[in-house]
Amino acid sequence: MSKSVFARTCIQVAISLALGVTASASFAAPTVSRLTPPSNPLSADATTLSRFLPGQRFDLQATVRPDPGTTITSFHFSVDGAPLSPAVGTTSMVTTGLVAGLPANTAVVTQRAYSNATPGIHTLTVTATQSDGLVATESGNFEVIGIDANGKNVKNIIFMLGDGMGAAHRTAARIMVKGYANGKAQGRLAMDTFPYTGMVMTSALDTIVTDSAPGMANYVNGNKGASSQEGVWPDDTTAAFDNPRIEYISEYLHRTKGTKLGIITTADVFDATPAANAVHTANRGNGTGIVDQYLDDSHLTGLTVLMGGGRKWFIAKNSTASAANPVNTGNGSVRSTGTDYILPSDIVAGWGVAPGVLDPNRDLITDFQKAGFTYASNKTEMESAGVPSKLLGLFSYSNMNVSFDKINGRRGTTSIVDDYGFPDQPMLDEMADKAIKVLAHNNQNGFFLMIEGASIDKQAHLMDSDRWIEETIEFDRAVKVAQDFAKLHRDTLVIVTADHECGGAAIIGASVGNTKTVADVGTYQAAKFPKYTIAADGYPDTTDVPGKMLIGYGANADRYETWLSNQEPSQDSQQPFVGQHPLNAFTCGANANPGTQCTSAANAGAVRNISTGYLVIGQVPGDQAVHTATDIPLSAFGRGASMFTGVMDNTDVFFKMSQAVLGGTQGDMDDAHGDMDDVHGDTDDRHGRN
Ligand SMILES: [Zn+2]
Repeated sequence: MSKSVFARTCIQVAISLALGVTASASFAAPTVSRLTPPSNPLSADATTLSRFLPGQRFDLQATVRPDPGTTITSFHFSVDGAPLSPAVGTTSMVTTGLVAGLPANTAVVTQRAYSNATPGIHTLTVTATQSDGLVATESGNFEVIGIDANGKNVKNIIFMLGDGMGAAHRTAARIMVKGYANGKAQGRLAMDTFPYTGMVMTSALDTIVTDSAPGMANYVNGNKGASSQEGVWPDDTTAAFDNPRIEYISEYLHRTKGTKLGIITTADVFDATPAANAVHTANRGNGTGIVDQYLDDSHLTGLTVLMGGGRKWFIAKNSTASAANPVNTGNGSVRSTGTDYILPSDIVAGWGVAPGVLDPNRDLITDFQKAGFTYASNKTEMESAGVPSKLLGLFSYSNMNVSFDKINGRRGTTSIVDDYGFPDQPMLDEMADKAIKVLAHNNQNGFFLMIEGASIDKQAHLMDSDRWIEETIEFDRAVKVAQDFAKLHRDTLVIVTADHECGGAAIIGASVGNTKTVADVGTYQAAKFPKYTIAADGYPDTTDVPGKMLIGYGANADRYETWLSNQEPSQDSQQPFVGQHPLNAFTCGANANPGTQCTSAANAGAVRNISTGYLVIGQVPGDQAVHTATDIPLSAFGRGASMFTGVMDNTDVFFKMSQAVLGGTQGDMDDAHGDMDDVHGDTDDRHGRN
């Protein structure tokens, strides 16, 4: 394949002489300061340009800066030199609502929902004319990755994302739940048994260390997104929902094959990872619009199952408090106009999406039910729902309680889940089992199911080692559910990966002595092998065992450390209640785990263990550990699994999954494993991009 590259050029063509303009001003000329999709920089190869599937839809956009005293009067985009003729209503030129600092009359010009069916590198050119006749053009490039008819097609993809789950998180879960003896693991995690493993580079469009929004979106639309953005590229308008879009795999497969989408998470369902499978926004915090788009555009995504926390976004702002919504302030709703969405007409016309409306008083649960979704508010209702055609499960106000506390609740050991008001929350493996049953039922067209273990990341941020290790165990139990389905349904591909690493976590040894001071951290021979006792429910009886595994953090904030488990979780700022809620029995001050929402000066600054243990000085400002740019492991099982080896970019994973579904794969479980003659594993291959 040709790898010729069209360098970015900027040509000003003087159509007419502008009389009375000074020399310096006439040389200024209109310029294009942004061209989208992001193009390859000036380089000899084409390794970093935007890539798409044949026919995958995306928006074209440019920011054009006219000369002083002029305006932009017309524009068009061309591909490979041929002007495009967009459908009526699918272009726009916007000169208001732009970010500060742009020259007067700057125009953002857009053509929506473009696609290109021809594999190869293409030249994109924008041409804009200003009122004095001067013309600005700029060119960039993008690539269409072909699909090869090749072997057996994958029907279902189960994409499992352990948020923040790096190698250390996986190792720690294995050590805790399986145990080691004589230097060997006494068992393997389900994800350890996957036959193919690779490493993934996770960086975002604008930063080496990604957050979860592009960290997820990059996997499912094949393009690098910017920080906090989901399924869009950056633009020069201030509105969050008008950014240039990229079609998700859910939308592409639903449009071309009728594939169904499932999204399940232990987080609030508005959170970045779930939303970045179905929602397009430049601000991951716009929860009202995000959850509205789940339903409003379900005809485009094929959304069939949505489960997790996040009920606070679905409760009408003007509803009355009730036993079902027991919070101390209002009714628990956090819906607001400021986080809602309303779209410009060119997006609506181009993409066929709902226009959106600012409706904080929307009763979204009822609207889901009207659209055919069965609603479950707890584990019992989820299980008694049978196999409905569509399923919505909202098991808490915001992020669900973590497995450490859910399991202790089931054992009757602590009342944390009761204190939060949600004593009957399902585990992720129980949600996964239900989601797969609903998606697979009477489904000839296949499904894409994203399963997120969200609080591996959230608890790693808090440096609450015991909780994120148990979150990883819970996640792996869901992996087992997916793997068991794929063993029976051989046309299924299961991928286990992460969006990024969190915490710079490392297993630094095990405790010796009384486990109370830093001097008790044993390394090398002193560490020996931690021994946890696993109960019948699959989780350790206690995490405070002799020889307890100890975790250090390379991306840490200040924390107070005892090495012992925290009996109460840190307060979660995402919950709709604040401070000392009557249902939330935490106390500020002397408590071992003051949350960030506690307001007394005595506990300001540190998330946990203040006034107990000793202070570990971190390297990161604030009170939470952060993500890192370290590559993360990816493991694959089922049809097509052999494509997922080596070191991959996260966007490569999108093209490999798409090839497996659309074109098929030689890499079935019963084929020769990982041969280098596999067209999608070799070093020249465009899908592997080695
Ligand atoms: Zn995070």
